[in-house]
Amino acid sequence: MKIFCIGRNYVNHAHEMNASIPEKPLFFMKPDTAILGKKEDFYYPDFTNDIHYECELVVRIHKVGKNISEKFAHKYYEQVGIGLDLTARDLQSKCKENGHPWEIAKAFDNSAPIGTHFLSLENKNIQNINFHLLKNGEIVQKGNSRDMIFSVDKIIAYLSKFFTLKTGDLIFTGTPEGVGSIAIGDRLEAYIEDEKLLDLTIK
Ligand code: MN
Repeated sequence: MKIFCIGRNYVNHAHEMNASIPEKPLFFMKPDTAILGKKEDFYYPDFTNDIHYECELVVRIHKVGKNISEKFAHKYYEQVGIGLDLTARDLQSKCKENGHPWEIAKAFDNSAPIGTHFLSLENKNIQNINFHLLKNGEIVQKGNSRDMIFSVDKIIAYLSKFFTLKTGDLIFTGTPEGVGSIAIGDRLEAYIEDEKLLDLTIK
């Protein structure tokens, strides 16, 4: 199973990172060992001092496809969930400075907590989904998928040019503005609309 993560897919997040707006979907990958499942805690690793949360809608691929056209991309998913693209921002800054790959900053064990379950997209528009993240009970990120620079269908068309998409593959679709640090003891709760799907304590 593969995990794709789209970077800078919301204009206001690109701005807060002082980054340019990409002309094509910008992506990186995490291995399956990055997944942190239900009811597991996140233990702050010792190789970083600045982990950031990035709350993102996650699309799960439900059939095999390659070279999928944008027009048919909607046939390749039927559920949406929520996840955190945990990022060791200190390590990532060094990678960026040196032009190095991002894996140590983005793809480490448990760097992709996902919600307890996915929601059906039946009668829902994937490009009009509200989601938000609470840190210690306060809203820190709030987004709607209509603000994505690249729609889910565009992302699927693009990724599937290079990679065969398989059932169970996940696409983290990018984070809105408001990313920030986490510390031991913090509680992160992520919602799609009014439904809480993720509740994580940092240990
Ligand atoms: Mn991200």
